[in-house]
Amino acid sequence: TGGKNMITAGNFKMNKLPSKIPDYLEILERECSSLKISHSPIILCLPFTHIPAAVAVNNPRFNIYAQNFFYEEKGAYTGEISLDMLENLGVTGVIIGHSERRQYFGETDDIINKKVIAAKRKNMSTILCVGEELSQRELGAEKAWVELQLRNDLKGLKDLSNIMIAYEPIWAIGTGKSASTKDAEEMCRFIQEVLDSIVPDSSDDVAVLYGGSVKSSNAAELFAQPHIDGGLIGGACLDPYEFGKIIKSANR
Ligand code: PEP
Repeated sequence: TGGKNMITAGNFKMNKLPSKIPDYLEILERECSSLKISHSPIILCLPFTHIPAAVAVNNPRFNIYAQNFFYEEKGAYTGEISLDMLENLGVTGVIIGHSERRQYFGETDDIINKKVIAAKRKNMSTILCVGEELSQRELGAEKAWVELQLRNDLKGLKDLSNIMIAYEPIWAIGTGKSASTKDAEEMCRFIQEVLDSIVPDSSDDVAVLYGGSVKSSNAAELFAQPHIDGGLIGGACLDPYEFGKIIKSANR
């Protein structure tokens, strides 16, 4: 819809090397230089190791997020990274509940809920990811599943400021197979309805992003949907020219 601030978030996952970050951001800046910074929030969700190089570029256009953290404040948690540590580096947000963390690292809704609460307490922006498996969609159970995830993951929150939701159907992530525009729009509309039932009127303030094989060839159509407020982009964000095209199609 016209005038809406579309959010584009790139998720590097476990890709690239820290030393490649300055070149990547230089190209991305060149590709996006025609866009007003205030109108086109661009988020980069980076591996921990890449974050200092990205922050050092000091470009206000780029919001640097982490892909993970541990919800405890500090202590004997070998190998973990706290929100204070991230904040100290200049990180302003985090992804929570990505399907790859649920699937490969055993993150349950209970863990995800603890992370959401911890991020909220620290005023870290959050992209909370939800989405169904193909088998659930084939059974027609996708909405019930996504609603359950939202209710569990947001349990105990009184307001949803600083939270974005990314609808990422698992079968569309990294598969080249994106949800149809109609299915993506329908679920994002439903998510806003659920958010309003969890916290009244919250959907006005919570951006709902679509993720799952977004690329420059399908981005414009997805972003044109009334209930899709932006995109979470995995594979396609690794190429700064391709990501630049996607960002531009979100901000026309
Ligand atoms: C993601 O992992 O958040 C994602 C949407 O990946 P891809 O764009 O590669 O499907």
